[in-house]
Amino acid sequence: AKRSGRNRWAWFDQSMERELKARNDLEGGLRSAIPRGEIVPYFEQQVDLASGRLEGFEVLARWQHPTRGLITPDQFIPIAEETGMIADLSMTLMRQAFAGARDWNSDLTISVNISPWQLRDAWLAQKVIKLLTETGFPADRLEIEITESALFENLALAQSILGSLKNQGVGIVLDDFGTGYSSLAHLRALPFDRIKIDRSFIASMNENQDSAALVNTIARMGDSLNLPVTAEGVEDKALEERLREIGVARAQGWTYGKPLSITGVRRMLAERRML
Ligand code: C2E
Ligand code: CA
Ligand code: CA
Ligand code: CA
Repeated sequence: AKRSGRNRWAWFDQSMERELKARNDLEGGLRSAIPRGEIVPYFEQQVDLASGRLEGFEVLARWQHPTRGLITPDQFIPIAEETGMIADLSMTLMRQAFAGARDWNSDLTISVNISPWQLRDAWLAQKVIKLLTETGFPADRLEIEITESALFENLALAQSILGSLKNQGVGIVLDDFGTGYSSLAHLRALPFDRIKIDRSFIASMNENQDSAALVNTIARMGDSLNLPVTAEGVEDKALEERLREIGVARAQGWTYGKPLSITGVRRMLAERRML
């Protein structure tokens, strides 16, 4: 027994070592990927459920790796957060997104994810506003998405940052509502314009009565607080129809197609005569 125990440890060490090396490689790679412009924005359509109209896009980070192809954010955003690289990553991503979306005229919005880590930066609002000025993207077409966990650390600072952005016309979205530390107090303490229901609730709506009831409750809460609700992870038309009946304002998800690159969005808008 002792012997197999030791073998198991040897195996464990090796796999830990491999994992550690993979992580270190990724971290090193990410450090140079950011200045090289390998982190690029992809755009996921957000649709108004009542009219079916395209309202805008959520910006999602992708790493265009020279040998590994397109890497999704779950593999590098946590590393970027732990190492502080998220600040630079987010700025390069926003710069590209603002510049790319600037001349998709009409009134399409773009919605960017801001990580909890960035809400510790007292200059965040000024940095975002500067980027808007430099790229010529209008503040009132920008929304920022923040998860609730981000708001616990320093509520006063979050209030000040979000207040400054909102004063410029930037919309503030409470992301992943219903997961983590849901607190109704936050809904009053912070200047939200919109609530986003996490994909986990939407995905289970068809099988799970409780999920459907919860989505309905969040939609009614949104009504009474005057906060439009977005549902994410809408994968098919049946779900879309149920959400429309419930009175959810906006939806996004694969039923509208997978996230597109800047070029992909341009092509799609051109086809729909929306450029
Ligand atoms: P999120 O903000 O909750 O974004 C929604 C995620 O759900 C995206 O994954 C999107 O591609 C995926 N998704 C959308 N529709 C569907 C659907 O119909 N079915 C399924 N199964 N999935 C769908 P993605 O792009 O992998 O992003 C994962 C998470 O990474 C995001 O979750 C967000 O928290 C984070 N993230 C992405 N970009 C950024 C960024 O620029 N900054 C920060 N801080 N976080 C980011
Ligand atoms: Ca989001
Ligand atoms: Ca999220
Ligand atoms: Ca989510």
